[in-house]
Amino acid sequence: IIGQFSGGVAHDFNNLLTVMRGNLGMIKLADGPLTAEVSESLGEIENAVGRAAKLTHQLLTFGRKNWVNKEDIDLGKACLQFASMTRRMIGETVNFVLDVPPDVIPVRADSSMIEQVLFNLCLNARDAMPDGGRLVLRLRTTDIEPVEAERMQMARPGRFAWISVTDTGTGISKENMRRLFEPFFTTKDVGKGTGLGLASVYGIVQQHAGWITVDSEVGRGTTFNVYLPLLESLAEPGWRKAPESEAAHSRHTILLVEDEASVRLMTNRMLIALGYEVLVANDGKDATLLWRSNRERIDLLLSDMVMPGGLSGADITREFVSEKPELKVILMTGYSAEFAGGDGGRPPGVRLL
Ligand code: ADP
Ligand code: MG
Repeated sequence: IIGQFSGGVAHDFNNLLTVMRGNLGMIKLADGPLTAEVSESLGEIENAVGRAAKLTHQLLTFGRKNWVNKEDIDLGKACLQFASMTRRMIGETVNFVLDVPPDVIPVRADSSMIEQVLFNLCLNARDAMPDGGRLVLRLRTTDIEPVEAERMQMARPGRFAWISVTDTGTGISKENMRRLFEPFFTTKDVGKGTGLGLASVYGIVQQHAGWITVDSEVGRGTTFNVYLPLLESLAEPGWRKAPESEAAHSRHTILLVEDEASVRLMTNRMLIALGYEVLVANDGKDATLLWRSNRERIDLLLSDMVMPGGLSGADITREFVSEKPELKVILMTGYSAEFAGGDGGRPPGVRLL
């Protein structure tokens, strides 16, 4: 329930942040120089909005509705980056050992979520060693055999990236072991522990189609193992920069469909500033009306996926594309792809933002 609640609040909150970010962007695009003071203030606002967005992201990890921003990344690089940031946080009494092979270990993952996983596991390891000890962050690839998969809960056979975080700390009792991943389960003093670290680790690992195991012995230490599906290789970067000349956009018309007024207004202003012609609708019905009378000129449908009024973004997409197969479509959502109906609910060729 708390997960759903925080997910819901965070979703609304994120809409507000989108508006703030968008308008900051607009101010930067605007003509005329800004005074040094003003641009400094804007920079501060931008930083604060960025931090607020990060917090929201964390909240969303608990709810199932969240923005998973997966890319093909090298997990080895992610670990190295994390380690360079974290060494100081670990403290001087703990010997931090990084054991990462030089090979590329490709996974499809949200790098800020992976960072959160590593962070929570290493922080717990540090907390378990108040008098110092040894913390090893290790990365490997592994073949999970069918027999092995059967022994491990939630495991399945195949090739996986395998992260392990080992400490020589207090260890975990049998009793606590059972409750480890429960939200708000903590053995730490008030103000020190929230009990949310492992709950979010668990959620993130699940969202990456992986699993997590724990080995621990009281008085000797603990190892957390995280398994994530391995990719064959890193694909060539699929990003191409959008053309910047305004002329490129000048004759293109976008049908924008968004129920949230502030987001709609801002998106509309941005698109106009970029040189597009924009038709604006509040919901699926509205969009259908505009479509009927402007079918020929509409080049792109840019629509929210989840909208009130009975017609979703996927619904209007199907209808419009059946009438005009060359129509380009981008569906936008604040929910994860899985939540928004997954790939199954998304017609082929449609981009998801
Ligand atoms: P928090 O760190 O805020 O207490 P977590 O969800 O991160 O919450 O961890 C929950 C509990 O699991 C901790 O309070 C601690 O008792 C136990 N725990 C987690 N990691 C370790 C570890 N490496 N060694 C010993 N105990 C651990
Ligand atoms: Mg913790």
